[in-house]
Amino acid sequence: MLLELERNAVVRYAKKMLTTGLVVGTGGNISIFNRKENLLAITPGSRNYEELTPEDIMVMSLDGKVHEGKGKPSSELQLHTVFYKNRPDIHAVVHTHSFYASSLACMNRELPAIHYLIASAEGNVRCAPYATFGTSELAKNALEGMENRKSVLLANHGLVSGARTIEQAFSIASNIEFIAGLYLTALAAGQTPTILSPEEVKNLNSQFTAYH
Ligand code: 13P
Ligand code: ZN
Repeated sequence: MLLELERNAVVRYAKKMLTTGLVVGTGGNISIFNRKENLLAITPGSRNYEELTPEDIMVMSLDGKVHEGKGKPSSELQLHTVFYKNRPDIHAVVHTHSFYASSLACMNRELPAIHYLIASAEGNVRCAPYATFGTSELAKNALEGMENRKSVLLANHGLVSGARTIEQAFSIASNIEFIAGLYLTALAAGQTPTILSPEEVKNLNSQFTAYH
């Protein structure tokens, strides 16, 4: 089986994405890129995560060719490959529809640096302009919005996180959801949360790099 390790990890994290509430139903998708093989393992489109097995995970090349897998790849294949083609620091991508991050995205608002864990995404999380799901325009907007960052909100849609490992990409998506919840709670209470200074965000980023 091609990319067996990666396929097992994709299944594990897809199930975790559902059980930790980062997606509802069949929303969201996950991939891992093996740069040596130049192949990625990605969740299939519109499939129930509870029933996923490693055989259901699609193995693809960056040009969209299927190398192994039973079904059809995620409709957001381009949202994943755009990062593997343009960001050598990214080897795993997690796309979620988590509640608070998606709420912010529906307001087309960015998530400012209001909590130290924002350093996992390397700074404020911008909101990329709206484009229809599954399009190359959405992929392009996400890539631009995530410049020098590890996460980006997708207007009226959800969140994308990317990192060196699937563990990190998943943890960034969870952290951003947590901070988006804090931010919206503060706004709902009529408060304006204090934003960390750019110097402190820089300092936190280097602490985080050393820590991971
Ligand atoms: P897929 O089920 O095709 O992966 O799509 C879900 C999604 O989140 C679309 O943006
Ligand atoms: Zn989506």
